[in-house]
Amino acid sequence: MTAQLLSGKVFSEAIRTEVAAEVADIREVHGFSPCLVVVRVGEDPASAVYVGSKVRTAEELGIVSEHLHFPAETSEDEIIAAVRGLNARSDVDGILVQLPLPKHIDEQKVLELIDPEKDVDGFHPVNAGRLMQGHEALTPCTPAGVIEVLKRSGITIAGKNAVVVGRSNIVGKPMAMLLLHENATVTICHSRTADLPGVCSGADILVAAIGRAGFITAEHIGQGAAVVDVGINNVEDPAKARELFGPDDLDKRLATIEKRGFTLVGDVNPRDAMAKAAYFTPVPGGIGLLTVAMLMKNTVTAARMRRKI
Ligand code: NDP
Repeated sequence: MTAQLLSGKVFSEAIRTEVAAEVADIREVHGFSPCLVVVRVGEDPASAVYVGSKVRTAEELGIVSEHLHFPAETSEDEIIAAVRGLNARSDVDGILVQLPLPKHIDEQKVLELIDPEKDVDGFHPVNAGRLMQGHEALTPCTPAGVIEVLKRSGITIAGKNAVVVGRSNIVGKPMAMLLLHENATVTICHSRTADLPGVCSGADILVAAIGRAGFITAEHIGQGAAVVDVGINNVEDPAKARELFGPDDLDKRLATIEKRGFTLVGDVNPRDAMAKAAYFTPVPGGIGLLTVAMLMKNTVTAARMRRKI
């Protein structure tokens, strides 16, 4: 069996087109454009790339965006004051504080300060609680993107065995809740799970959100499963790349390592997934693209909810 690749590009473009139409409609009917503000502290290079992509995408879709960039040495009090200021601004619909924050700033404290109505990352405990109880909520973008990919691919979720590997507040737990709300029978695995291959190989839908390159291998993948790879990891070693990539992909990956020093891989061994799964989301070009698209969708949802339209 060769798995069908589920392209994040196709689905994220579809969502972006829908969001752009909704933004245009809001502007025409209600006379404003939703507004997203991204707060970044320090010089983390990955954060700079992510924020750049978020701000650029917002602009492309007609969403007003602001990027507040503070130096690494900014005090916690100053960041708190900035978030409070954004909470108070009536023109701001979405606030996103890019993680990680520098060590001297308490991330949880800052995230809990964001007005839940403007919490477009969906990390505030109020939104996490509303999601758990099945009420309307701003939902974390990555797991929401996974659900979009499954649904738009015509993959049945209701009644299926879904296994989520990873239990973070950002991905694993909300992922499990969203699958449960779609009527899957859900199992959550983590580093203390006994017999991980046994549990995973029984999954119709397997979502990997672990943070370990190519960790999920053939023994974890049931024949014909839908495998969703959330992980984003760097592989620098050509020998490791040879374990992960099949002949059709290997030369390109080795060339990328040669040129950039690394290539991106998910938490699933792509060679094994291609051989055993029915569906597989690639890395790069998979769920990562959905995360940004869903952030835009959340910004419009936040604007509609808080402005009651
Ligand atoms: P965390 O580090 O917060 O969580 C990782 C989870 O994996 C933990 O629950 C941990 O278990 C579990 N885990 C670690 N080792 C094992 C193991 N050997 N067996 C089983 N479970 C294990 O990571 P995140 O949830 O934030 O991110 C996960 C991955 O997704 C990362 O690669 C990250 O880069 C990527 N990511 C991608 C996004 C995207 O847009 N595509 C967005 C966000 C994240 P335990 O709780 O027991 O420690």
